Amino acid sequence: MKLLRHGAPGAEKPGLLDADGRVRDLSGIVPDIAGETLRPAGLKALQDLDPASLPLVAGTPQQDLRLGACVGGIGKFVCIGLNYADHAEEAGMPIPPEPIIFNKWTSAVCGPNDPIQIPRDSVKTDWEVELGVVIGEPGAYIAEADAMQHVAGFCVVNDVSERDFQLNRAGTWDKGKGCDTFGPTGPWLVTPDEVADVDSLEMWLDVDGVRQQSGTTATLIFKIPHLIAYCSRFMSLQPGDVISTGTPPGVGMGQTPPRYLSGGETVSLGIAGLGEQKSPVIPWGRST
Ligand code: ZN
Repeated sequence: MKLLRHGAPGAEKPGLLDADGRVRDLSGIVPDIAGETLRPAGLKALQDLDPASLPLVAGTPQQDLRLGACVGGIGKFVCIGLNYADHAEEAGMPIPPEPIIFNKWTSAVCGPNDPIQIPRDSVKTDWEVELGVVIGEPGAYIAEADAMQHVAGFCVVNDVSERDFQLNRAGTWDKGKGCDTFGPTGPWLVTPDEVADVDSLEMWLDVDGVRQQSGTTATLIFKIPHLIAYCSRFMSLQPGDVISTGTPPGVGMGQTPPRYLSGGETVSLGIAGLGEQKSPVIPWGRST
């Protein structure tokens, strides 16, 4: 299943993408793609529906039909740092002995085609295509062998980052990760049955049509079951929490000379089987 949220910002309705690429409305079935709906019993109930029995939503998704983030009510947006060896190298940082965890504030979350706003005083706004893992079944101290049973699905995340805020403003990385619109998430939440091998997904990111990042989840240092088990030692994981698993090389910070977003660009990114995002970049305070 490809689950999504359609409609105006703040008023999104749950839906699913049918086999013909049209959106079917789920708002008569579940309140949101969130919380209990993401637990195994909730997903099973949706799997058992006949999409043809659901109301058709007018419009083409990501064209004349806006999509919000594919998960609603995200409680925690946990990010993993330096989880690709070649990205750690371009960042000039050692491969971490255990996963680096940082936060993206949930007020940063936005839809896959919403504008990315350059924050005030930004000098180094950068991009990061990442595989997002959405938690379904809650748990703490999850065993690695059981970890995938806690996954509701996967999605594309752009871990937009302000490097000066992240690295030069004293303290943790979080100042540069959670600015409003720094968390485009979606277009869809793809359930695990539709992802043949999550450890071998091609991923890419373009700025103004020029390829910047290309990678594959095959080169993740810490794999998804390990990340879930590891995070659950420091926090309980809840339905709708998102773990963004790190970025492959090709970020602006790693280029010679470094290249950053200043407004006016279009950032496009995608992961095989999980869909694509296309985000205009605009100065702070403008709506389009
Ligand atoms: Zn990242």
